[in-house]
Amino acid sequence: MKIRVGINGYGTIGKRVATAVNQQDDMEVVGVTKTKPSYEANLAVESGYPLYVPLENINMFKQAGIEIAGSIADMYKSVDIIVDCTPGKVSKQYKTDYIDAGVKAIWQGGENHNLTGVSFNASANYKESWGVQFSRVVSCNTTGIIRTMYPLDKEFKVEHAYISLIRRSADPNDSKIGPINAIEPVVEIPTHHGPDVQSVMPWINISTMAVKVPTTLMHIHTVIVKLNTETSTDQVIKLFKETPRVKLVKSKDGIRSTAQIMDLAREMGRSRGDMFEIVVWEDGIKVIDNTLYYYQAVNQESDVIPENIDCIRSMCKLEENPMKSIEKTNKAMGI
Ligand code: NAD
Repeated sequence: MKIRVGINGYGTIGKRVATAVNQQDDMEVVGVTKTKPSYEANLAVESGYPLYVPLENINMFKQAGIEIAGSIADMYKSVDIIVDCTPGKVSKQYKTDYIDAGVKAIWQGGENHNLTGVSFNASANYKESWGVQFSRVVSCNTTGIIRTMYPLDKEFKVEHAYISLIRRSADPNDSKIGPINAIEPVVEIPTHHGPDVQSVMPWINISTMAVKVPTTLMHIHTVIVKLNTETSTDQVIKLFKETPRVKLVKSKDGIRSTAQIMDLAREMGRSRGDMFEIVVWEDGIKVIDNTLYYYQAVNQESDVIPENIDCIRSMCKLEENPMKSIEKTNKAMGI
């Protein structure tokens, strides 16, 4: 029997999770939700997903000629687990609803760790979500940092990591948020990213700063790590080559910026042109004394998607071995 998955909030993250769930052989999408009629609601129905909507908006969908399967509360009756991909501010109400319905739920990085008490990254702490009712997949940036920092810490013991995040200002389908011609520092220091990494790796010493720039695809992190063990540039390159969901590229091959990375993902025939891996510039990795320097890029819309799949497997006790789940997810998603 496949695990039955409901997606609450069929937006940027929700629609990608839906595609990835249906690529697996041990889980399936049994419903998605939208709050208002829209092209995305139409596309969900065209993709064959049963569409559930708020009770009070059922007539709105009927008038728009969009076929619905029932109310959001109806969806809970047919699911084992909800992947909640709603935007902020509605999580408290939904948490109460999920408790009442007796279903499991995964939230995304827009929510606080306190909501679930458990946060998830497949490589770093898969087992902490084993069988739990609620968990949270950390944000795109936090996932990006953990993907490289966890193996570095395991192999060379991180003394302190200093990271500057250069963040995209809005997603490609968003025309409301800026800046469109400015660079905006996040003045609250440390930014929330460091503490968010600590929700998965509580022992790590990490300091983060961030600026928003006018682009819609990808973040870049400039990373400086003081290591406790002596190592070399070549050893770090070898480690990253062996790390799942980390991809090394070279600027001398023409990958000079995020533009070529997104082109590469499209040319690789990836679903929606997504780059699920964290991309590290091999020729930008350098160890000087015990300090490591590197640049990495994060496709904000997609790096968390395989993590959601592994989180479902851990919470629903489908696979005990984290590496086996990661391999299975990667194979099904073409990573
Ligand atoms: P989004 O705005 O693209 O999609 C949110 C969806 O939720 C929309 O389909 C909207 O119609 C629906 N929705 C709104 N209110 C709802 C309600 N009350 N009940 C049910 N559905 C409702 O948002 P997103 O970018 O997909 O973000 C979702 C979550 O994922 C957030 O926690 C966000 O922080 C996190 N996240 C986003 C990104 C990113 O880059 N977009 C990356 C990683 C994590």
